[in-house]
Amino acid sequence: MLSEFELIQRYFARHSVADEWLALGVGDDCALLQPTPGMQLAVSSDMLVSGRHFFPDADPFWLGHKCLAVNLSDLAAMGAQPLGFTLAFSLPEANPDWLEQFAAGLLQLADQHHCRLIGGDTTKGPLNICITILGEQPPGSALRRDAAQAGDDIWISGTLGDARLALGAYWKEVPLNSADHLQAALRMHRPTPRVALGMALRGIAHAALDISDGLAGDLGHILKRSSVGAILELDRLPAGPVLQQQTLSLRRQFTLNGGDDYELCFTAPPHRRDEVLAAARQSGTPVTRVGSIDAAPGLRLVDAAGDPVTLAFQSFDHFTTS
Ligand code: ADP
Ligand code: MG
Repeated sequence: MLSEFELIQRYFARHSVADEWLALGVGDDCALLQPTPGMQLAVSSDMLVSGRHFFPDADPFWLGHKCLAVNLSDLAAMGAQPLGFTLAFSLPEANPDWLEQFAAGLLQLADQHHCRLIGGDTTKGPLNICITILGEQPPGSALRRDAAQAGDDIWISGTLGDARLALGAYWKEVPLNSADHLQAALRMHRPTPRVALGMALRGIAHAALDISDGLAGDLGHILKRSSVGAILELDRLPAGPVLQQQTLSLRRQFTLNGGDDYELCFTAPPHRRDEVLAAARQSGTPVTRVGSIDAAPGLRLVDAAGDPVTLAFQSFDHFTTS
């Protein structure tokens, strides 16, 4: 039987090696950080709860990946460079196979982003995983939700809706063959945090956020915080490869309201379009222009001809959505 201390040592401590900014990692009462002089720290936490954010029998490797990916996605949405993270979690039992896989998925993604596990807390209880992530960026460079301006273009990275389509198939809302279901489900289980794009957009984009609860609702946060409105060209929203094969109505519904894609939505002035496209190329991330910010409050949807479209907005909310 693994003790708590052995568990931490075996699976998580090995990742914590001294770095320029990390004076002391796992093992003491606190980690000690020495951030780069003159930089601002960006800090964010995300908690994933079994049965709410993931299926209790989720593949532990990809669960480890996803827990960190959603946190990296928050740094990406600010344009911050990842530094490190803490992992606080409760788990029902110390199962070595599960822990090995979970740590492998988590730390593989951490390595890809040079992001170190610097501490945490481990207790017994229902599976619940909370990561707090730290990043840094030059003061004034953050892509804040309150910085959108009338006239800005609205851009989306990657594609939307496949994660929601996978859930729809799981709930038997939408029929999908098993190959398509598997492909769509990969989007739900293996989100790609757009860290390089976020950093490349510093000084170019005005506002940004990552889409976790659906574009309509998440873009609404930018509109509210920036006191502006927006027009979205519904049929320019980039649907995921599986969703592209579905009906127009499903494509519209899931690109607009589907959550769990972890793509970036950002705004930038039209005279910087070339720079946005260069940032996209440099970071290897496709981007699509899908609308514009204007001064009139509210979100308006139009079709390719510019005619208004009425579609209900739904955004996921833990306390109002079942
Ligand atoms: P404390 O008694 O202060 O809560 P712990 O015994 O819980 O300390 O933790 C010992 C060390 O191991 C600390 O440095 C802590 O940050 C680290 N740690 C605990 N759990 C984890 C984890 N899941 N991942 C990484 N480090 C961890
Ligand atoms: Mg502790």
